Amino acid sequence: MAKRDYYEILGIGRNASDAELKKAYRRLAMKLHPDRNPGDQKAEERFKEVKEAYEVLSDPRKRSAYDQFGHAGVGGAGAGGFGAGGGFGAGASFGDIFGDIFGDIFGGGAGRAGGSRAQRGADLRYNLELSLEDAVFGTTVKIRVPTYVTCTTCGGSGARKGSKPTRCATCGGHGQVRMQQGFFSIQQTCPHCRGTGTVIADPCPDCRGAGRVQEQKTLSVKVPPGVDSGDRIRLAGEGEAGEAGGPPGDLYVQIRVRPHPIFTRDGNDLACEVPISFVTAALGGELEVPTLDGRVVLKIPPETQSGRLFRLRGKGVTPVRGGAPGDLLARVIVETPVNLTARQKELLREFEGHVREGGTRHSPRESTWLDGVKKFFENMRL
Ligand SMILES: [Zn+2]
Ligand SMILES: [Zn+2]
Repeated sequence: MAKRDYYEILGIGRNASDAELKKAYRRLAMKLHPDRNPGDQKAEERFKEVKEAYEVLSDPRKRSAYDQFGHAGVGGAGAGGFGAGGGFGAGASFGDIFGDIFGDIFGGGAGRAGGSRAQRGADLRYNLELSLEDAVFGTTVKIRVPTYVTCTTCGGSGARKGSKPTRCATCGGHGQVRMQQGFFSIQQTCPHCRGTGTVIADPCPDCRGAGRVQEQKTLSVKVPPGVDSGDRIRLAGEGEAGEAGGPPGDLYVQIRVRPHPIFTRDGNDLACEVPISFVTAALGGELEVPTLDGRVVLKIPPETQSGRLFRLRGKGVTPVRGGAPGDLLARVIVETPVNLTARQKELLREFEGHVREGGTRHSPRESTWLDGVKKFFENMRL
């Protein structure tokens, strides 16, 4: 069989940059890697093909030779057995274990590998909303996902029980046909089998030949403590079943944490505002502050100003990837009293009078502020 064009294999243009080349290679290598397509002979062949194309085109000398002379220019290059050297050793496993959290490197490679009927199923994404408490302490939630599962009647082949898909007569099983058009011979996806190389004469009645059926799947998702909005949990193999018995995709559970009425979260720290009376602020006292797992008593020292931040160490969130817990930052807000009676107002006026007469500075900010204003006007007069 004639070798396919290297650019065509990688799906890039003749003047693709090195970056585009690398990107195309990376994407295809991820998709076709044998670890992700166990037992899929076609994917393995394409993987070798892609690897060879990349080895030639990523070498400037070989690339220019190939551009001028085609495959003849780089004869003998490539076709190197994979597994031996190269970017992807046999040990480079992609499909990690169940619940490989947050670290996955490949972004949704839901492409189609041509030339094979069995296709890897699509990845699914499920948006999961959590309360702050559940995100901080972890939880297990049951979710229902509409998905495709392998048809049990035909075992995914798509053919009626007892029959098998047969080789496509139009393309002889290649999935591609050659068309003569003037001087050119163009390779095209076979219109009869749509590139799969096989046809199903007697389709399975339950899946109508697709090899998979739609179903609502109920899954139990274990949410580890410490997750935050934007984190995602990967459930390997829980995506859609592939067509015609292809391997399933993965399910990504995307976390979003609902706003909390009391706490806001910033990384591993929690923050809240605590209102206090100006009397407590002036004289000091004790205050109950809420935390996610109960209350703690906060000592307010005398002469506390509004806006002061108190740090409660270790009362924040324990990070999901491990490490020390964050802090709870409680900001006290001094409140102006409202709904005062005549008597209360009188007391305040009396208080104000005392404070003014005393000659001591009782309002640190007001004093410095007034000093500043005075200086400002003096400077203006110059
Ligand atoms: Zn079926
Ligand atoms: Zn065909």
